[in-house]
Amino acid sequence: MSTLRIAQSLIDEIVAHAREDAPNECCGMIGGVDGEARTVYRAENAEASPLRYSIDAGEQFRLMREIEGAGEELAAIYHSHTKSAAYPSQTDINLAGWPEAVYLIASLADADAPEVRGFWIRDGGIADAELRVE
Ligand SMILES: [Zn+2]
Repeated sequence: MSTLRIAQSLIDEIVAHAREDAPNECCGMIGGVDGEARTVYRAENAEASPLRYSIDAGEQFRLMREIEGAGEELAAIYHSHTKSAAYPSQTDINLAGWPEAVYLIASLADADAPEVRGFWIRDGGIADAELRVE
C-alpha cells in the first residue's frame, strides 16, 4: 500500500467537479504514473443521485483507453459526498471494483472547507490511503 502523490491543483479540480454536480454525487477517474496522480478524467454519474454513483461500462472502457493512451495507469477513482463525511459508505464498499486504485472521496459537508481523503477498499475492508498533496 503505497502513497499517492497528488498536486493541489488536481484536488481543486475534483472539488470543482463536486460543486458543479451537487446536489448529486460526481465521479471520475485519475490517471497516474509511478504513484503520482497526473490527470483528472471526469465521468458522468450514471445514477444521477445524491446518494450513490456509478460509471457505466462504456464510459469506463472509453476512459481507460484515454488513460492508457496518455501513458498513464488508473491511479484513483473519485466521487463526492455532498452531505456526508469523506468516508466510504456501505454502498461504496459493496460496489468497489478496483482493488488496485485509491478511492478518493471529496466531501462538501462543510461547504467552506471541502475535504478530500483517500482509501483502499479491498475484500469488503477499508484502509486509509496516504495522500501526499504537493
Ligand atoms: Zn460514496
